[in-house]
Amino acid sequence: MVREIDWSKWQRTPRGWVRVPPSGCPAGHRWTTNGPGRPSERFVTCGCTVDRHHTLWVCPTCAMHCAEGCTDTALWAGTTVSSGIVGSRRGLV
Ligand SMILES: [Zn+2]
Ligand SMILES: [Zn+2]
Repeated sequence: MVREIDWSKWQRTPRGWVRVPPSGCPAGHRWTTNGPGRPSERFVTCGCTVDRHHTLWVCPTCAMHCAEGCTDTALWAGTTVSSGIVGSRRGLV
């Protein structure tokens, strides 16, 4: 399967190409594409999709971990997220 790259979700910076984060976390905090308002970017392994992989955005305000394109946070592999990140600290964007 060829993975399509959606370039509208990327931006060019002095550091190279980086992902454009979603507009905000489920708790309502606004995210920006750079500066202190930008969520930090990680990855999580998850069983909800065929490629078992999501970009994980960590809200700089409430530290909620939000998986992009995920449908079920309960399917995250425990080895790929910090042990304290459970239940309400997981979100979907
Ligand atoms: Zn938040
Ligand atoms: Zn998922």
